[in-house]
Amino acid sequence: ALEYPLAMTPNDPGFYAPIEDAPGPRMNATFVTLARNSDVWEVARSIRQIEDRFNKRYHYDWVFLNDKPFDDEFKKVTSSLISGKTHYGLIPPEHWSFPAHIDQERAKKVREEMAQKKIIYGDSVSYRHMCRFESGFFFKQELMLNYDYYWRVEPSIEYFCDIHYDPFRYIHENNKKYSFVLSLYEYAETIPTLWDSTKKFIAEHPEHISEDNSMRFLSDDGGETYNKCHFWSNFEIGNLNWLRSKAYTDFFESLDKDGGFFYERWGDAPVHSIAAGLLLKKEEIHFFNDIAYYHVPFTHCPTGEETRQQLRCHCNPKNNFDWKGYSCTSRFFDMNNMEKPEGWEKQS
Ligand code: GDP
Ligand code: MN
Repeated sequence: ALEYPLAMTPNDPGFYAPIEDAPGPRMNATFVTLARNSDVWEVARSIRQIEDRFNKRYHYDWVFLNDKPFDDEFKKVTSSLISGKTHYGLIPPEHWSFPAHIDQERAKKVREEMAQKKIIYGDSVSYRHMCRFESGFFFKQELMLNYDYYWRVEPSIEYFCDIHYDPFRYIHENNKKYSFVLSLYEYAETIPTLWDSTKKFIAEHPEHISEDNSMRFLSDDGGETYNKCHFWSNFEIGNLNWLRSKAYTDFFESLDKDGGFFYERWGDAPVHSIAAGLLLKKEEIHFFNDIAYYHVPFTHCPTGEETRQQLRCHCNPKNNFDWKGYSCTSRFFDMNNMEKPEGWEKQS
């Protein structure tokens, strides 16, 4: 018995408001969240938003991954919020540790230097393992092998609008491999040699470079230098089989050998973005204007008042980052000859 009985019990009629399932097929897809046990309440906030805005009508599964075993509280709280099946995976140590070829002394010195320069997460070992894991291994976890599509969710994010159709089905039917809602410039200090490594990969593996690629989004001089533009990977909906392909695997392994995850502080966002930009065709990358999203400190709030009202959005359109100076999204529009929404200049 409950210590403090509820005024109404789950057996009373009307306790659970009926929610109609969305019609149509379901894709072989899952949400995926990397988290620590201590993230549980921030993860709970994220789940609640996804469920309220979308998944309560779709019931997609959710995979949680952690370098330490999830505790009972984490499992209890998250599984009670999610309307699909939940799975909890332990990351094998070889996906969350220094590869043998890394010179530990050199890596340590870099962390000390970056700490002095106050580079964000510059002194952190665990953040580097996290970035390398998200770059090269999340899609190869045993639990993830069961799925074709993923939707990445981080703690403390917000979804501001109803999602009134199935984004998994959208990317499946339109043959998209990768998608984003926010794009911006990376901190140069975290990736001094990432583009050198990329150019080496291009020279060694011309067979993997797509003819109709997005080099124009990544570089302003035809590939000589990187302009630091990247898709913000804390939101991603994508195709897992692409990440498991020979092309992507060769790219990740080439970068991993060069050591920049530890000798610098390469993030998974520029790594995924450069891969998507070079290995995919332009039209395989999708911008979801109608998915409104926040991860500190940036917001994507759909342009267009009618859209926002129809989708019952609660974001302030003034906070929309898309057309501000530090966003790369207008480059994506230009590259694809996409028409920018009316009034976009006024938002910068
Ligand atoms: P930021 O968004 O770049 O500031 O980084 P976050 O702190 O949000 O970390 C990115 C993702 O990795 C989030 O989903 C975190 O929960 C997760 N994460 C970060 N560090 C660790 C860690 O040491 N262990 C685990 N299991 N997850 C981590
Ligand atoms: Mn985050």
